[in-house]
Amino acid sequence: MRFTHETLAQRVILDAGRSLEHLEAQVAHLGASRVMLVAGGSASSYADRAAVLLPVVLRWTEVVQHVPVAVAERARAAAADTGVDVVVCVGGGSAVGVAKAVALTTRLPVIAVPTTYAGSEATPVWGLTEDRRKTTGVDPVVLPTVVVYDSDLTRSLPVDLSVASGLNALAHCVDSMWAPRSNPVNQALALEGARALAQGLPHVVGDPMGTPGRDQCLYGAYLAATAFASAGSGLHHKICHVLGGTFDLPHAPTHAVVLPHVLAFNAPAVPDQARRLAIALGRPAGLAGPDDDAAAAATDALAALRQAVGAPRALRDLGLPLDAIPEVAERVVAAAPATNPRPVTGPAIETLLRAAWEGADPRSQS
Ligand code: NAD
Repeated sequence: MRFTHETLAQRVILDAGRSLEHLEAQVAHLGASRVMLVAGGSASSYADRAAVLLPVVLRWTEVVQHVPVAVAERARAAAADTGVDVVVCVGGGSAVGVAKAVALTTRLPVIAVPTTYAGSEATPVWGLTEDRRKTTGVDPVVLPTVVVYDSDLTRSLPVDLSVASGLNALAHCVDSMWAPRSNPVNQALALEGARALAQGLPHVVGDPMGTPGRDQCLYGAYLAATAFASAGSGLHHKICHVLGGTFDLPHAPTHAVVLPHVLAFNAPAVPDQARRLAIALGRPAGLAGPDDDAAAAATDALAALRQAVGAPRALRDLGLPLDAIPEVAERVVAAAPATNPRPVTGPAIETLLRAAWEGADPRSQS
């Protein structure tokens, strides 16, 4: 065994119902006294309560998916004008994205309080969008210094969005198994993340207000994002990146729809990873058998989970026009990692995208 693995420095707290007191303590621990509080509409009442406890000098409510450059520039200018010394963000990946955009140019520390399973809080990846193109980059300055997970804040996330977001997190796990810097350490994180998400999501669907399922999903989402941050973007993320940046499709549902198609495409070429993924997803059947069984066990396990939680199925339902598929495929082929387990060709990606667009059973394409 041989690998090079980097572990990112970050304080991570998971404690249902106590995020406000942790926030207060962590802001004080950083020695900060001028807080920029980034929180969109869904986090506004929590932000009201946080603003009572924290030394907030700027409240930022303009939170837009994929962070348009104009929004980033306005937020940076406001931070500079107000002289803030820490950015606290509360919300999903979009709120974290605004905080990261500010940190990228100001180098201010970020404290993140996530309310979805997107996982941006655990990665040094930033993303900005302009002229239908999403640009991403990696810079350690955008990695939040502290993350405070409080599953009470995720109880208001509607079940369908919770499912989509949980599958977005699961996509981090699955893509990490073959991403360019995939290694035994990030695979271990990915597999434990997949196990936690596969266990937690059905609980969230059955009992959206319950703490155990919500905690499992936050824990799984953190591990998933840590694995992804280390392993890098695989084919799945390249596809969703093009779909999100160019066609402004909703982030989490897009990941949820595309994931089984990429798994069905790649799994036959990586039977060992497929075997371990199947076990993580709770399906030990066929695991001592031939390689085909391992790929089928993994894709069947994901299909069963998706069925149990009522996952979204088709890109056409998310607003992708059918005639966009050739353009998407062309961009995906240009961006796909050379290390993908199977060759990424235009016809193969068009077939995959067409199946995802229709909502076809992905197991029929491999
Ligand atoms: P989001 O942050 O846009 O949230 C989706 C919707 O859910 C919004 O309307 C939001 O207001 C609402 N919401 C969020 N939390 C809620 C809650 N607890 N209760 C009720 N409503 C709630 O979506 P997302 O999927 O969390 O994040 C997507 C964005 O994050 C994309 O721009 C994506 O590119 C980015 N992202 C970046 C990384 C990274 O590493 N840089 C990783 C994952 C996602």
